[in-house]
Amino acid sequence: MTGSGQLPLLFLDVDGPLIPFGAPADQYPIYRSRLDLPAIGSNPLLARVNPGHGLRLSALPCELVWATTWTSDANECLSPRLGLPPLPVVDWPEPSDLDEQDARDGLHWKTRTLVNWAARRPFAWVDDEITDIDRHWVHTCHAAPALLHRVDPRQGITEADYTTLGEWLHRV
Ligand SMILES: [Mg+2]
Repeated sequence: MTGSGQLPLLFLDVDGPLIPFGAPADQYPIYRSRLDLPAIGSNPLLARVNPGHGLRLSALPCELVWATTWTSDANECLSPRLGLPPLPVVDWPEPSDLDEQDARDGLHWKTRTLVNWAARRPFAWVDDEITDIDRHWVHTCHAAPALLHRVDPRQGITEADYTTLGEWLHRV
């Protein structure tokens, strides 16, 4: 390994991949954190975050980046639960005319920003809202390998997802 600058990025969404939703609530285990985080009171869904994801994510050969509407709150609320250090955070630009056009085209509102953020670096993107429109756009507009990996939000990131991500990241 020659330093994190050489590693692919992994853009990580929170709602869906780490906080599963959409199935009956009693299906989801409740994980009590050693950390008594005040945010738990304000967002009970944080108790659905399996802290085991932290080890799995940090074992992947990549640089993790939060790519979520939680923005910097992810470092406050998610990283400690997962045992991860504070991670770089993608800040989302104010909506523009371009976004309206992208929405009409069916492009996800994150896609363009993530490609800009990656700046020609290989990246994986883990999100529950990725479609083939995003994949096609990224493969046309991004000058490096990219894996747009959709996670089922009812389950969150699964073993099968980690296998796919690990294989791709090792290949890159
Ligand atoms: Mg999501």
